[in-house]
Amino acid sequence: MKVAIRDDDTCYFTSPDDLARVYGDIWDRVPICLATVPFAIGYERAGIPEEHWRSGEPFALERNSELVRALQALASARKATVALHGYTHQDYPGGYEFQAAPDLERRVDEGRAYLRTTLGLPVSVFVPPHNALSKRGLAAVARAGLNILGSFLSFRPSLRPWDRRTPANWWRVHAFRKATGRTKRDRLVYPYVLRYATHAEFGCHSLVPGTTLQELTGGFDEARRHGGDFCLATHYWEVDATLKDVMLRFLDHAARHADVRFVAAEELFA
Ligand SMILES: [Zn+2]
Repeated sequence: MKVAIRDDDTCYFTSPDDLARVYGDIWDRVPICLATVPFAIGYERAGIPEEHWRSGEPFALERNSELVRALQALASARKATVALHGYTHQDYPGGYEFQAAPDLERRVDEGRAYLRTTLGLPVSVFVPPHNALSKRGLAAVARAGLNILGSFLSFRPSLRPWDRRTPANWWRVHAFRKATGRTKRDRLVYPYVLRYATHAEFGCHSLVPGTTLQELTGGFDEARRHGGDFCLATHYWEVDATLKDVMLRFLDHAARHADVRFVAAEELFA
């Protein structure tokens, strides 16, 4: 069984210390997939100075050279990998970036090329900002051939661009719901990779304020019983002592199983 960790929102506003504070005693055990924003535009959240919440100014990752060097060092030590997390991560009046921005194909292509060039690292995974992806957003990411780590992506064929594999994947998820006694309304994190024509998708379990250890171990135990894999998703900027404790105890729970292998999130798609 493969177990991975994804952490969102590394960008110009991130200091290497923010990441080390959360992962300094974890990334030797589990490489962290850092979903990174190439040209961050501020919005209201902890860790972004208030004067940038509404300034609309994009900040290229390379302007934080200390972070660029830290990401390169972490990657070469196999402590972290880098995924593409939107282009600016900005919110529009009509929705989040990958629901509402006008030029999603350009954002995917240029965002990935920018991270590759600036960091000198491969980028094969896309994480939608706020886990929100419209039909158009999904088409743009699939066209680029990037695999998607999501949290609440819909499997319904009507909400997805045409793909010859969509109906069979929908049936797989439907069968899993039935086998686990879930109705359409019950929460589900499908524990296997779904492969589409040009990309693949995998759902993550969120670790956010309020998430309990029992919720995570319950999801892990279910995935394991069914021969699936597991990915934890969080944001370094909201990991306090309580969340860190949940994370560590979850990792200890996973590590007690001899068949568990901690991997970089990219390996979930191998
Ligand atoms: Zn984000």
